[in-house]
Amino acid sequence: MSLETWKKDIPEIEKVMHYEELFWMNDSYQGVDAANKVSQFGKADIKDAEDRLKRFAPYFADNFECTRANDGIIESAISQIPEFQQFLEAQYQIKIPGQMYLKRDDTLPIAGTIKARGAIYEVLKHAETLALEAGILSGYDDDYRKFASPEFKKFFSQYKIMVGTTGNLGISVGIMGVSLGFEVVIHMSYDAKEWKKQYLRDHGVVVIEHKTNFTEAVNQGRAESDADPKSYFVDDEHSVDLFLGYTVGPCRLKKQLEEKNILVDEDHPLFVFSPCGIGGSPGGTAFGLKQIYGDNVHCFFAQPTHMPSMLVGLLTKEYSKVCVADFDIDAKTNMDGLAVPRTSGFVAELMHHYFNGGITISEEHQKLFLTKMIDLEDIHLEPAALAGTIGPAMLFGTEEGRAYLKAYHLEDKMQNATYIAWATGGSMVPKADMEEFYQEGK
Ligand SMILES: *Cc1c(COP(=O)(O)O)cnc(C)c1O
Repeated sequence: MSLETWKKDIPEIEKVMHYEELFWMNDSYQGVDAANKVSQFGKADIKDAEDRLKRFAPYFADNFECTRANDGIIESAISQIPEFQQFLEAQYQIKIPGQMYLKRDDTLPIAGTIKARGAIYEVLKHAETLALEAGILSGYDDDYRKFASPEFKKFFSQYKIMVGTTGNLGISVGIMGVSLGFEVVIHMSYDAKEWKKQYLRDHGVVVIEHKTNFTEAVNQGRAESDADPKSYFVDDEHSVDLFLGYTVGPCRLKKQLEEKNILVDEDHPLFVFSPCGIGGSPGGTAFGLKQIYGDNVHCFFAQPTHMPSMLVGLLTKEYSKVCVADFDIDAKTNMDGLAVPRTSGFVAELMHHYFNGGITISEEHQKLFLTKMIDLEDIHLEPAALAGTIGPAMLFGTEEGRAYLKAYHLEDKMQNATYIAWATGGSMVPKADMEEFYQEGK
C-alpha cells in the first residue's frame, strides 16, 4: 500500500507524521483468551524461563554481590511517585484518580536497564546449552555455581557472542558474556553514547563502531557472526529468548503488588506503560502481564513522537515491513534506548493481539519529566525511561484516552486504578551526562 492510501484509511497517520503526541487504542485487541489462541507462546514458556533463572541464582549470589540480598535473582522494586502524579495533574489540568508507581528497572543489578532481563537470560540459556552439550554440566539439577569455575571459563573462551545495538543491550550481553568467559564483540550504531562504548571496552568487550544507524549495525553484526560457527548472535529483531526473558518480570511484579496490598481485578484495573524500541521488552512484559492478570491489566507501549516504529507497524499492519522513514519521520531522538526505526516483525505481529494500545511522547515532555522526576521524587532516569511516565496524562488528558476508558467501562473504577510506568534505565548514566539531561529540562 502507498502512503496516500494509508493517510486516507488510517486517521492517526497524519498526526503521527506531524509528530503529534497521541493515545492510540488497539482495536485488534480482542481479549486475552482470543490472543492466547493464536499465540505460539504460553505459560509453560514463561515457567521455563523463570526456572532457568532460578537455577542460575546460586551462581549470581556467589559472584555478583549486588544480587545477594535477593538470593541471586535479578529484580527491581516498585516506587510510588505521588509528587510526580500531582505534577502531571497540574501540568495537564486533569484529575488522575488512583495511584501511580514506577517499576525501577533503572536500578536492576548488573546492568541497570531492562535489558538485563532479556539479554542476561539469553546469554545464560546459550551458556547452559553449550555446557550441557559438552557434558561439563550433567543436567538441570547440577550445581550451577560451576559456571564461575576456571574449567567453565576456559571452555567458554573458545566461543564468541556478538550483538548489534544502540548501547544498552550491549552492556547486558557484554557484562554477562565476559563474566562467563566468552569473547564478546559488539557492533554499535553511530548514535550510541560514548560512555557506553568506553564502559564496554573497560570490561574487556570488543566494540566495533559503525557510521550507520541501528539497523545497519545489527545487519553487519549478524553477517559477521553467521560466518563464524563458534559465534552466537543475540538477535534483537528475531530473538525468542530475549522476548521470553522479559516475560518473567511480571511474575515477580505480582508478588510485589500483593506485598503492598494492591489489588488487580475487574474493579481494580492495572495500567502499564512500557518504553518501546524494537518491541522485545514492552512485548515480553505485556505478554507476561496478560498471562497473570488477563483483561484486568491494560498494556501500552510508549514511543518518542520522532521514532514511532511499533506504532506505524501496528497501524498499517505491515509490522517490520515499514519503518518511520516511510512516513517522512526524521528518526531523531535523544531517547537512545528507543532509537529503533523499524520494529521487530515477530514481536509486533504477536503483540498486535495483546497490546491494548500505544502512546507517544515528545522530546520536550520527556526532558521536562526527567528533570521533574529528579526534583520531585529524587529518581534519576535516562531519557528513554521517561517515555511511559506520560501515560496517565494521555489517558485522562486526551479525547482518545477518555474514549478508551468508556469503551472498557472503566470510568467509575478509576479511583481504584494502579498505573505503572516502567522505568527502564538510568543508574548507569555517568553523573556528568545526567547533569546535562537535568539542565536540559530545567
Ligand atoms: C532497549 C530499551 C528499551 C526498549 O526495549 P526494546 O526491547 O528495544 O523495545 C527501553 N528503555 C531502555 C532504557 C532501553 O535500553
